[in-house]
Amino acid sequence: MKNKLFIIGGGMGGISAGLYLSKSDFEIHIFETNSTLGGRANILDLDGFIFDTGPSLLNYPWVFDDLYKFIGTSLNEELELQKIDPAIKYYWPDGETFQLSSDLTKLSQECIRLDSRDGIGLLNFLSDARKKYSVSFDNLVTQNTQSPLKWFFSAGLRNILKLGLFRSMESQLNLHFKNKKIIEAFGSYAMYLGGAPHDLPGIFSILPFGELEYGLWLPKGGMYKLVESLEKSLVKQGVIIHKNTKVKNIIKEKNHVKGITLINDEKLYCDQIISNVDLPTTMNKLLEDKKFKSPKMTPGVITYYLGINKKLDNLEHHSVFFPKNTKFAYEEIMKNNNIPEDIPFYISVASNNDLSLAPKNKSGVFILIPVPLKNKDYAWDKMSEQLLSKVLLRLRKHKIIINNEDIINKETISPKKWEDLFGLHMGSAFGASHNLFQVGPFRNSNKSKKYKNLFFVGASTTPGTGLPMCVLSGKMVAERVLQNNE
Ligand SMILES: Cc1cc2nc3c(=O)[nH]c(=O)nc-3n(C[C@H](O)[C@H](O)[C@H](O)COP(=O)(O)OP(=O)(O)OC[C@H]3O[C@@H](n4cnc5c(N)ncnc54)[C@H](O)[C@@H]3O)c2cc1C
Repeated sequence: MKNKLFIIGGGMGGISAGLYLSKSDFEIHIFETNSTLGGRANILDLDGFIFDTGPSLLNYPWVFDDLYKFIGTSLNEELELQKIDPAIKYYWPDGETFQLSSDLTKLSQECIRLDSRDGIGLLNFLSDARKKYSVSFDNLVTQNTQSPLKWFFSAGLRNILKLGLFRSMESQLNLHFKNKKIIEAFGSYAMYLGGAPHDLPGIFSILPFGELEYGLWLPKGGMYKLVESLEKSLVKQGVIIHKNTKVKNIIKEKNHVKGITLINDEKLYCDQIISNVDLPTTMNKLLEDKKFKSPKMTPGVITYYLGINKKLDNLEHHSVFFPKNTKFAYEEIMKNNNIPEDIPFYISVASNNDLSLAPKNKSGVFILIPVPLKNKDYAWDKMSEQLLSKVLLRLRKHKIIINNEDIINKETISPKKWEDLFGLHMGSAFGASHNLFQVGPFRNSNKSKKYKNLFFVGASTTPGTGLPMCVLSGKMVAERVLQNNE
């Protein structure tokens, strides 16, 4: 009889682990509480307005291609990808904008438009970030080790010093660019990692580089097409999927786990378990580990899905709106647990590039506002209306007009709802944050310290957050499970 492996949760990490283990000798079962796989990467259909609930952009396509190649196909065979370029447009309250493009000539012209010295700055930044990127991905990101020494030495001390681990992302960007707005734009990736650019390690300057180098993409039909295609692959590979099946707890005995109890109290037994449920939730709820100390988490988000009764041609696919004082806003959200008066936000209008995502001559608008973690007591219904009014007012300043009457469909997901839907600890949108002491060997391990046959996968474990990282997380945990089984 085959050994049984249970994966709790069908988010991207769980899916990837299932696929990376599908050629092994296990009988693999995925248990997902919702009626759809994907977790945060889910789908919402509001009368023909099709929205991706979480991820709105696909980056690092090679990571997905590697996964597909492992099971004998490829990203291009499975999905029709559309390149989104210009990639992102950034807006400031004084009317200034900055447009990111993976076309080097266009990007360089845009940098020079803001500061004549920043054309050279861009070239220096790219060359520096390219080195950091290759050291990171060749040696560090997917290393399954809890030993800082092993981690450091595998990359070589000289390389480590070049990574900018001990300098902030902002000071790393300051080394290359003069214009504060360009620095703010490139630094804005920090928010998704759970810090401000002046707090997070400089190594994360590789994030904007990765997007410029490999581009931003949208699968035709939206991001959820990726999940659907991976689900088909799971079935083809023989993985058994149980949807609408909530796991109540993990059955433990001394230093082993034995199986799971479902919400209806049915007990199912297995040989190994991988939990894709957000790691702190796994520890607190599924294992009831009272000693577990939660890592610092990334902020929450409030997200809006608006069906708009007209085309919005003057909004790009991806736009980021900065407040007057971005540094202050980051501090308010991430350190002081306040929603600032002047809010930063992100908007995606995927239906501008893929007409199948909205009814004819209409637009689907996704809005994301970062909010503090300690937000449980907010009256979210009232608060979400107030914040949406602020967003619409701000858009008006940039001559992007959405009147209340234009909104014909609307759904809102508050941090509380994000938590309830997918088990996200404290409603944190992106999982454990990525400060220096929560990356690499310092991040929560993907192997339980206490239970020999229990593993973790997903955004709050190693290597980190975002769909590509969760796919890599699946690959890393598969390696761990196979080592354990030798
Ligand atoms: C608003 C938003 C925007 C984002 N934008 C992007 C983007 O543009 N690009 C990008 O790459 N990334 C983006 N991300 C991040 C990305 O979505 C996540 O990093 C990734 O999807 C997390 O995957 P995961 O493996 O941690 O699984 P999760 O998504 O956390 O899924 C865990 C699964 O476990 C299930 N589960 C929970 N409890 C139980 C239980 N008791 N029993 C059974 N099942 C259970 C849940 O229902 C869920 O399906 C975004 C995230 C959010 C929230």
